[in-house]
Amino acid sequence: MGLTGIQIFKLLPKTNCKECGVPTCLAFAMNLAAGKAELSSCPYVSEEAKAMLSEAAAPPIRPLAMGAGENVVKIGGETVLFRHEKTFVNKPGFAVLISDTMPEAEIDARLKRFKELKYERVGLVLRPEMVAVKNESGDPAQFEALVKKVKDQTDAALILMSDKVDALTAGVKASADRVPLIYAATDGNSEALANLAQQNKCPLAIKADNLEALSKLSDKLTAAGLKDLVLDTGSRTLRRAFEDQVFIRRAALNQKNRSLGFPTITFPCEMAKDPMKEVLIAATFVAKYAGIIVLSDLRGEGLFPLLVERLNIYTDPQRPMMMQQGIYPIGNPAEDSPVMITTNFSLTYFIVSGEIESSRVPSWLLVMDTEGLSVLTAWAAGKFVGDAIGAFVKKSGITDKVKHRRVIIPGAVAAVSGDLEEELGSGWEVRIGPREAAHLAAYLKMGN
Ligand code: SF4
Repeated sequence: MGLTGIQIFKLLPKTNCKECGVPTCLAFAMNLAAGKAELSSCPYVSEEAKAMLSEAAAPPIRPLAMGAGENVVKIGGETVLFRHEKTFVNKPGFAVLISDTMPEAEIDARLKRFKELKYERVGLVLRPEMVAVKNESGDPAQFEALVKKVKDQTDAALILMSDKVDALTAGVKASADRVPLIYAATDGNSEALANLAQQNKCPLAIKADNLEALSKLSDKLTAAGLKDLVLDTGSRTLRRAFEDQVFIRRAALNQKNRSLGFPTITFPCEMAKDPMKEVLIAATFVAKYAGIIVLSDLRGEGLFPLLVERLNIYTDPQRPMMMQQGIYPIGNPAEDSPVMITTNFSLTYFIVSGEIESSRVPSWLLVMDTEGLSVLTAWAAGKFVGDAIGAFVKKSGITDKVKHRRVIIPGAVAAVSGDLEEELGSGWEVRIGPREAAHLAAYLKMGN
């Protein structure tokens, strides 16, 4: 169990200097106990107190990472039950299952889909990140060969699945630098797998038949020095698995239960035979509260909605999604191509750039930083008005790329146009493009 606010308060400097952003050390202690503040926000905590407070300051659900390079999958670290309270932190990783008893052609097809099923949306690349490699042959050499193959052909974060210690040892040997998740320690093999995880600095999944047994196993392994655990409650029906996810999250956050304060792994692949049913089950665990979701296969029609659901749920509701300010060339524009300006609200960018693409008129799109506000909201807030846009156009560098001096602002109000022409000076022409994005493509095709 973590420390209470009063216990934490006794270890703080008690100067009420407010540098942590709250008025008193007591308020800071209460926030820390509730997982709403970070110890590093107080610069005056002594090293001795830091050591004592580290447990209380740790997020109620331990964060951990798997994978390497640009595809490091971080899970856990959550501090709230509901997204609207603050934000969810680390989105669940999607894994596809590949077994060492599958025909070679099937393995190759799954790896191909893993690499190809990527989608760009609001400037982000949405994709599955993990491959769960399962040892069903019982042969360590066969398993090791498949792990090597998956590692060599993809950048996937790996889950190594076997009930045989020698197979897992061979799998870890082939992929230790990828920091794989070892699945799964049970009461029977926990000591051997704890050693394997500790020696190779890998996270370890633990599995039991019920939550009580899982808590005991978690306590046993944390007492042995393991920190990075992933929980599998063993439930393979939607109702029980859902209840387990909610129970674990509540126990970790509300009761500061350290035994269950770890991210979880779920297996929709073992809960349904119908692919669409499996997607619906996976969608449930995206919302509540899986750290890893293992799918039997990847199909675009099921994967894409899951990726979009995950994007929406794991977006910080307090911060608008924003694009970087700058010049975005669309379709190889040249020096006589149209220039458009819009704001850096991701959805606005997504709609406008989509319409330009569908017009097939190569264009330059200037995206201006309006703190993530859409065109009319930014205009009403005084952030997307003539003088501000003019200053941005002048320093954007667009005049080095085009010969003409004409800009189009899709969806702005007419007042912006006059102010902007005045700001830019003679020789410039400003047009207000259609507000409805659907008309922009036709507008561009007409040569405006
Ligand atoms: Fe107290 Fe530290 Fe916050 Fe200052 S910064 S009020 S000492 S907790």
